[in-house]
Amino acid sequence: MTDQPTSASDLLREIRRLRDDLDTLTAKQTVELVEHTARIKTEILDEWTQHNTGPDTKKVYDDVQSWVEGWFVHAYARSSAGWGHWCPEWWRHREAVSRLTALWQSWEAAQKNTATGMAHWYVMYADPIFGHLTASHGVFASCKDEHIRLLPSLATITVEAGYPHTP
Ligand SMILES: [Zn+2]
Repeated sequence: MTDQPTSASDLLREIRRLRDDLDTLTAKQTVELVEHTARIKTEILDEWTQHNTGPDTKKVYDDVQSWVEGWFVHAYARSSAGWGHWCPEWWRHREAVSRLTALWQSWEAAQKNTATGMAHWYVMYADPIFGHLTASHGVFASCKDEHIRLLPSLATITVEAGYPHTP
């Protein structure tokens, strides 16, 4: 049993103690409320991110290398005779890397389009790019079944003053 205040000064002291207790409880609850709000904010943000990411953030493959090795070379399997040129060291050819990267990125986007995505992708991107890469005059023209050499860059002469003309 607590002692009852016996005087005005005891009463004031008791009021101050209760006010301090209340301040302590309020501060503790404020901290808990701030922490709880931060947790909920993080959960909501994570959930939103999971459901609202664009095609570039939810990829099937992490990079062009894993896509070529994991999907492309199997989807475009060919016997070694009677068709164009493919270089197993495609990554040595800058143009091939550039074209295959663009093809991989469009493939990732096509995965999201369940209506016409892959059909559109084959006709508009994959077949033309594959045909260009493997053509007898294409990127891999010097290679077949193994890497032989890179094609020389196109010739260029340093641009003269006043050029190029703008249309
Ligand atoms: Zn090669």
